[in-house]
Amino acid sequence: MIKALRGTKDILPDEIRLWQHIESIGRDIFYIYGYNEIKTPIIEEASLFTRSIGDATDIVQKEMYVFCDRGGRNIALRPEATASIVRSYIENSLAQSSRGAKLFYIGPMFRAERPQQGRQRQFYQIGLEAIGSDNPFIDAEVIAVSVRFLERLGIEKFHVKLNSLGCQKDKIRVIEKHKESLRPYVEKLCETCKARFDKNVLRIFDCKEVSCRGIVENVSVEKTLCDECTSHFEKVKAGLDAIGIQYTIDRKIVRGLDYYTRTVFEITQESLGAKDAICAGGRYNNLVKELGGKDTPAIGFAFGMERLVLALQGTSGIRPQLSGLDVFVAVTGEQLYGEAFKLTESLRKAGIASEIDYDAKSLKAQMRKAEKLGAKFVVILGEEELKQGKVAVKDMAKHEQKEVEITDLIAELR
Ligand code: ATP
Ligand code: MG
Repeated sequence: MIKALRGTKDILPDEIRLWQHIESIGRDIFYIYGYNEIKTPIIEEASLFTRSIGDATDIVQKEMYVFCDRGGRNIALRPEATASIVRSYIENSLAQSSRGAKLFYIGPMFRAERPQQGRQRQFYQIGLEAIGSDNPFIDAEVIAVSVRFLERLGIEKFHVKLNSLGCQKDKIRVIEKHKESLRPYVEKLCETCKARFDKNVLRIFDCKEVSCRGIVENVSVEKTLCDECTSHFEKVKAGLDAIGIQYTIDRKIVRGLDYYTRTVFEITQESLGAKDAICAGGRYNNLVKELGGKDTPAIGFAFGMERLVLALQGTSGIRPQLSGLDVFVAVTGEQLYGEAFKLTESLRKAGIASEIDYDAKSLKAQMRKAEKLGAKFVVILGEEELKQGKVAVKDMAKHEQKEVEITDLIAELR
């Protein structure tokens, strides 16, 4: 038997309502904040990601699915969406379109990681990007959207952690300082982090190895931002304070991708266990230029859909209705299926969600099925009633049954 690949999962009909619920709340809230949806391809030229995410990151070094296509091109399954959206922004000159630069997306991403609870090889993200402004109000606004999204979903016990990495110059200084603080511990780091020490010291702060985390927890990180970046960060915080968004400052948040500058943030959620990051984001003021566009500042975030689903399942009282069935059509005898077939079609044509079981053994079996499907009404066709142009309609909630003229049926059901 062929099975789904390790680290991939079928999202079955029972669960999909929850996904749709999350997506629809996401779309609502993103539209309210002025964002429009974009869909970019799942495959891109691999260099798009190596250039933007960074050569020394886990994503590029270990996690990216890359293959050579029949034309000898180097293709990657996208590990994230920001680089693709920036590519599209440049390629389609979205800077010029009236609503172009505030975009959101929902779709699958691919990373060859070790599968575990909350971590898959194909997973879904829902996120947004605000391209075009370096104004700290935009940072506060973007963080606000992510918080309001969680609130609307009814997810509680989440924490916003905030940091600023500073501008490109600050980052160089931050990297030096971090190097100094970690230097005494180099020998105790994992093999990967030993190599990272020279190549990309920030990545050590993102390492998942318990021993490295222990070391990182204990080193102190000084403030190293320039005046402008300090002032920007202060304004972001003031913006959040002004609208009542709670956060804590965490100087050790560096994010797993190289393109971030200035504001970075993460949202964790308590019910998620070890993999508790439900959302991550930040500013990337140099990325548009690095990918060949004009010098354009930007900021965005991404939520992990699977983790949103897990968090919602851990939240009591939130159960989107599973069945949308209005009517189950039942017959008292097999010879009536022809009439029932036509009647069911007319209901469906009228927009009434209807189901019928052509293989049922008895009326009793059909009633059981109707109950199982959560039908609001059962329309029962009987020989005698049909001759008079009537059917029986049973209200399943009220346990009441009455006769209705077929010509009145649709109006009656509505
Ligand atoms: P993590 O620390 O969990 O590895 P990350 O820093 O790699 O996360 P990002 O690249 O910032 O994550 O992606 C944003 C969000 O996407 C994460 O907070 C998480 O909710 C989700 N996510 C990332 N990788 C996976 C994965 N392999 N499976 C499921 N969800 C994921
Ligand atoms: Mg990761």
